[in-house]
Amino acid sequence: SEKVLQVNNLKISFRTYGGEVEAVRGVDFDLYKGETLAIVGESGCGKSVTSNAIMGLIPQPPGIIKNGSILFKEKDLTKLSKTQLRKIQGVDISMIFQDPMTALNPTLTIGEQLTEGLRTHKKIGKKEAKEKAIDMLKLVGIPNPEERLKQFPHQFSGGMRQRIVIAIALICEPQVLIADEPTTALDVTIQAQILELFEEIQLKKGISIILITHDLGVVAKIADRIAVMYAGKIVEIGDKREIFYTPEHPYTKGLLNSVPRLDLMEEELQPIDGTPPDLFSPPKGCPFTARCDYAMEVCDYAYPFSTKISETHEVDCWLQDERANVLQAQNKIG
Ligand code: SF4
Ligand code: MG
Repeated sequence: SEKVLQVNNLKISFRTYGGEVEAVRGVDFDLYKGETLAIVGESGCGKSVTSNAIMGLIPQPPGIIKNGSILFKEKDLTKLSKTQLRKIQGVDISMIFQDPMTALNPTLTIGEQLTEGLRTHKKIGKKEAKEKAIDMLKLVGIPNPEERLKQFPHQFSGGMRQRIVIAIALICEPQVLIADEPTTALDVTIQAQILELFEEIQLKKGISIILITHDLGVVAKIADRIAVMYAGKIVEIGDKREIFYTPEHPYTKGLLNSVPRLDLMEEELQPIDGTPPDLFSPPKGCPFTARCDYAMEVCDYAYPFSTKISETHEVDCWLQDERANVLQAQNKIG
């Protein structure tokens, strides 16, 4: 299937008073047309930094894109100017965040906020923009759209506001939608409705979604593929079923431990003993070594190569790589 976005060996650091934090340390993935790719992991693993980079939202400084590329429509998004990025943000690539209230402007009507992007980026006239806004509100399931356009954000419930945020994100018909914890602030019933809405919109519009979340229930419901991030790396990536039923990385197994069945997933990620490494001075070897029950000598001094488990499933772990023994032997001799 067609690749919409390609992230290649992306490395992003942040300068702080304490030194440089290596937040993203060489991330690779492709996003295909019409799929939902979930990026999961504990907070601080680099998932939000990765998605912000795709959206062109890394402030530089203190952020530094050290290496790599993000290819979208033959352009490298990491190389574009702010003006060039503004033409893509919210138009070709849209993003929605956890808290719908901060995403909306309390002083503008829903109609004004919905049509703004159309008018400035797509040069669409007032009347046509209004019609499109009404269609979008219908699509996201807001009743009486014509009346509702004249209202302000505070006149809507939390769930309705998140629907409006989604409508704004989609009105310019982007190819990519990035959703960072889009349902975390909502109660369970509304969460389910919003997830159904995502699926419906994806079917109708064929957009690709990058879903950033720590909620495995959400992932189980709507993801096609899953990338597991740990300490600034994607340590395992595969189809949803491969990751849920035959995970290979000990970290992925740890995440899934408390929720072994796809159809029973209601739980959030359970903490695994120990903490992720300090990314001011990340370990040379596998970053999971200190928490891993299977750690070998080689894990300490060398980061594992990616091993292909299937056409779609890849893992960075020495347990899957026969070269581990060779390397260990060499290290003993050398
Ligand atoms: Fe554990 Fe080694 Fe695999 Fe890392 S490479 S997850 S430490 S076995
Ligand atoms: Mg986050």
